[in-house]
Parts: sequence; structure tokens; C-alpha cells
Amino acid sequence: MIRLSKSCISQKDKLAVKRILDTEFLGMGPETKKFESKLEKFFGRKVICTANGTSALQIALQSLGYKNGTEVLVPSITYLASYQAITAAGYRPISCDINLNSGNICLESINKNYSKKTKIIMPVHFVGDPVGLKKIYSFARKNKLRVIEDAAHAFGSNLGNKKIGSFGDISCFSFDGIKNITSAEGGAIVSNDEEIIKKARDLRTLGIIGDSINRYQKKRTWSFQVKEQGWRYHMSDLNAALGISQFERFSKISKKRQSLAKKYDNCLREIKEIKIFKRNYNQIVPHIYPVILKNPESRKEIMEFLKEKEIETGIHYYPNHLLSYFKKSIRNKLPNAEKIFPSLLTLPLHPDLSIKDVKYICLNIRKFYKK
Ligand SMILES: *Cc1c(COP(=O)(O)O)cnc(C)c1O
Repeated sequence: MIRLSKSCISQKDKLAVKRILDTEFLGMGPETKKFESKLEKFFGRKVICTANGTSALQIALQSLGYKNGTEVLVPSITYLASYQAITAAGYRPISCDINLNSGNICLESINKNYSKKTKIIMPVHFVGDPVGLKKIYSFARKNKLRVIEDAAHAFGSNLGNKKIGSFGDISCFSFDGIKNITSAEGGAIVSNDEEIIKKARDLRTLGIIGDSINRYQKKRTWSFQVKEQGWRYHMSDLNAALGISQFERFSKISKKRQSLAKKYDNCLREIKEIKIFKRNYNQIVPHIYPVILKNPESRKEIMEFLKEKEIETGIHYYPNHLLSYFKKSIRNKLPNAEKIFPSLLTLPLHPDLSIKDVKYICLNIRKFYKK
């Protein structure tokens, strides 16, 4: 079976994890500190590692300290985690429409959904492509809004000559099992805002003030103070060791993801029943490879056909405003999100996939339409 996505683990990754197991210290300690330091060098900014990407978003949101019910503008087409993080922080997601060419939040919809209660915009770099981000930052500056980038797909991607996470307000990353680099479970908050970083650092250790500094040295804090709701959202050294090992071979991983996506583009360009997203894979590191089916009615059938050929496919993402828990997130109609959703199909993409696999997948897509 050609899997849609998978964790790709090297011999070195396994040894890195084993080395931590052998220390018999699996909590947050020096390895997590080391991972943070490496990421700080990579981004040129402060980094806080967390249990996963969802918790990174949640405590980044909470760190901003707005009152309950504060509105966060977020695209409807995103992983459910973006939405759950917003409500977990006590805020209200407001669903925005997307740009059909990129799948990213669209500025017109931001304008339409903006209200007096809006304090935050959460753009999601769909696939890892931050296109349109500059305009969002200028809107945010003009209206004094904060921006939390859900950069879960975008580790290693660039906007112009700048790395995502190296500029802007706050960026949150995910290192879950199938993301651009993995720590099995893990996430990171990246920012230059010292106050936010300081707050987030305490929130991840149950709100215990200054606890991280002790934990980095394998120490506990026995006498402490707490000022607000905190969470058990720190990263374990076991996860950090895997994250570091993956990070050290990221240039190889990213090149592989980029070359596979380029190969898909080349092979699929001739299939007229399929529309491909126009993206610059020299600039971005793709986390997934979705395409648009010109005939959405064929989606179920093509998914089954490919499954018979041992090719797993997926759908990214179901519009969040259509989920009953989030139906109140809608203020205006979202025609693009509803239009694009039925025609989205995601093809396999992970570093263990070969160019030959991509050719085989495309060949079978062509076969399906020739039937
Ligand atoms: C993966 C992902 C997250 C959440 O990250 P986890 O590490 O799985 O908690 C958030 N947003 C998007 C768009 C994601 O793809």
C-alpha cells in the first residue's frame, strides 16, 4: 500500500530516542532545551516547545490575554485543531472564506467578518504556502490586531527570502508524526515578543512561574507561585531527541518533499480532469499534495479506484463551519470554502515515497479518467 502520509524514521532517529531512554529521564529537560536552542538559531527568534501543535496554538492564544469571547478570524478550510485551540483559549472562532487559488484565508472575507470584538487573525499556511500573508499583516497593523500564524504545515517554507517563523508576530508549528519534521508529538511557539514567550513558557508547566528553568536542569520547583490557568503542555526529552534528529537532516527531507511535489505537477499537468494548485516548490516545503477534481462527483469513485491499486488518498479539509460545534462561527456565507471542499483530493506525500511511486499514482489517475 502506498500510504497517504507516514512517519519516516531513520536509524539515527532510533538511536537518538534510545539514548534518552537509557538516561531514564523522560520528562522535559536538557534535550528539550537543546531542541529549542537549535530552533532559535534556525528562526533567529525565541522558541517554546510544547506537547503538540494544538497546545502551542492554545497557549499562544491565551498568552495574548484577551477576554472570553474575543473573536479570532480563521479560515474554514483547516484542520479542526485550529478551531479547538481557539475555543480552548476561551475565544470565539469566526470562519472566513478562502482564496480558491491557494486555499488560504482571503483578505476580502477578513474585511467582511471583522468586528469590534476581533483582536486576532489566525492565517493557516495551507500545504505550507504562506501566499497572501503580507496583506494580512498590513490589515492587522492598520486595525491593531495580533496575528498567530498556524504554520503547522509550513516548517521550512519561505515568503520571499524570509523563513516562516523568522518574521511577523507569533508562529506556531506542529511536529506530529506526519508533519515536515516530527518529534512523534510536539509543537513550537516562535516569536520575538518576550512577554508572550515568558507567559507561554509558564503556561505549558501548569502555570508554575519559572518552572521551565529548573526542568531544563532536571530539577523540580518545590516552592512556587501560580497566577492563572496553566496546562501540562511541555515537551518530553524523548520527543525532543527525535525532533533534533529529524531537524538535523531537514535539508534532505525538505528537498525530497519538494521534488515529489514538482514531479506530481509535471505528471498531472496533462490530465485535463484535474486542476493543480500553482505553487513554487523552490520556496515552500509542502506538507500535503491536494489537487482539485473538475468533476467533484468522481471523488468517491476515484478514491476507491486508487485504493484498489494500493494507493491511499485523503481529503483536506472538511469546512469547520459545517461542524455542529462550530456552526456559530459563521457570520457571512463562505461560498469558496463550500465550493472547493467537494472537489479536494489529497494524494500521497511523504519522504519515503519515490519518484517511481508518483509516476505510478499519476498513471492510475490517467487510467481512471480513460475508463
Ligand atoms: C497538524 C495541525 C495542527 C495541530 O498540530 P498537532 O501537533 O497535531 O496538535 C494545527 N493546525 C494544522 C493546520 C495542522 O495541520
